Amino acid sequence: MSPPASMIGARIELLRLHQELARWRMADRQARFWWRDDDARGSTPRLGRLLEIAERHHAPLTLAAIPDPANVELPACLDRAPVDLVQHGIDHLNRRSGPAAGELPHDWPLDRLVAELTRSRAALPPQTAPIFVPPWNDVHPQLPAALSVSGFTGWSAWPGAAPAEGGPRRIDAHVDLLRWRGGARFRGYGRLLKAFRAALADRRRRGDWNAPIGLLTHHLDHDEPAWACLDWFLGRFRTHPAISWRSLKSLIAEAEPPSIPPFGGQPHSS
Ligand SMILES: [Zn+2]
Repeated sequence: MSPPASMIGARIELLRLHQELARWRMADRQARFWWRDDDARGSTPRLGRLLEIAERHHAPLTLAAIPDPANVELPACLDRAPVDLVQHGIDHLNRRSGPAAGELPHDWPLDRLVAELTRSRAALPPQTAPIFVPPWNDVHPQLPAALSVSGFTGWSAWPGAAPAEGGPRRIDAHVDLLRWRGGARFRGYGRLLKAFRAALADRRRRGDWNAPIGLLTHHLDHDEPAWACLDWFLGRFRTHPAISWRSLKSLIAEAEPPSIPPFGGQPHSS
């Protein structure tokens, strides 16, 4: 499976993405890709399909699970796939008024946030990593501070989400498999490939080679074209020599690596 032959634009984007990756190889660099899937709520057939794809491609998957009684069953279905659980919100209920959704009203004080984070965490399996994903990318101004106080080691949103300062390390997702306006549906091969190429080119031009690039999926909302593209994309790029697929947990756990010039330079000593 690949972009249908009739999709000329998608095939051109595929060619351009390969050309960009060739530039990374010429520079002796590997892009850091990672994959986050949101909204896990129970051991559903769709979750099974997602895990089967992750397992078949040996693709490290970060599964953002909603604190919910349905997720008590999750560990049993996670045995085979290379998957880490992280916390997705406190209950995924929208408490904001107005057009922007969010579960943490921005007038909640820090101690209320800490209490809610701590309480909700108890509703997730114990092996859930202390990494937080705010629903709808809504960032309460005190969220980073509350995450630090509550013992979280990292969090992940979207680059457009409010740039709250401080707190644990933040690593965002960048390329969404779906489009949301007018109802969730597959973004399209051309748009998806173009978004990856743009993210790669941006990092290459800035010399920010180690900045991760995150793929975002939502297994409960995928249509068939989205499933097909996800399977195709991982089959095509999971083992590409210019890409290193990492888990979010490992990216957050590691210290900022030293910047090593590709040819002949001396690495920093600290
Ligand atoms: Zn969500």
